[in-house]
Parts: sequence; structure tokens; C-alpha cells
Amino acid sequence: MEAKQFQLGDVVQMKKPHPCGANEMQIIRMGMDIRIKCMKCMHSVMLPRTKFEKKLKKVLRSEAIAPDQDAE
Ligand SMILES: [Zn+2]
Repeated sequence: MEAKQFQLGDVVQMKKPHPCGANEMQIIRMGMDIRIKCMKCMHSVMLPRTKFEKKLKKVLRSEAIAPDQDAE
């Protein structure tokens, strides 16, 4: 198994699509937990890094985003 590489701002495809039908998520926060946001419905989900890596299918592209504004 190759190591998956990803970074903040990457748009990734998960093994299972989001319930809204889209399968493009952007990494909007990295840390012990990874927060990803659905590119279609903008819903965000937080996953532990290990779980994220298991569910990650591939990185589609990298997009620069503004530094994390953790508004919650
Ligand atoms: Zn969605």
C-alpha cells in the first residue's frame, strides 16, 4: 500500500460519496483530526486522521485556501 499524501486545501475523493451525491471533499483543517468539507453542499465533517486515511480514495487536486478560521 502506498502512503497517501494530502495537505490542507486538497480536494479529495472518498471511498463513499457524501449523502448529497457529491464525491469531492476539500480538506479545510488538518491536525489530529481532519476536517473535510463537501464541495457540493458545503457540509463539513471531522474525522480522526486514521479514519480519514482509510476512507480516502484519492487526492483529486490541490487548491489554495485561506488559513483556518475555526469559527465553531
Ligand atoms: Zn454533500
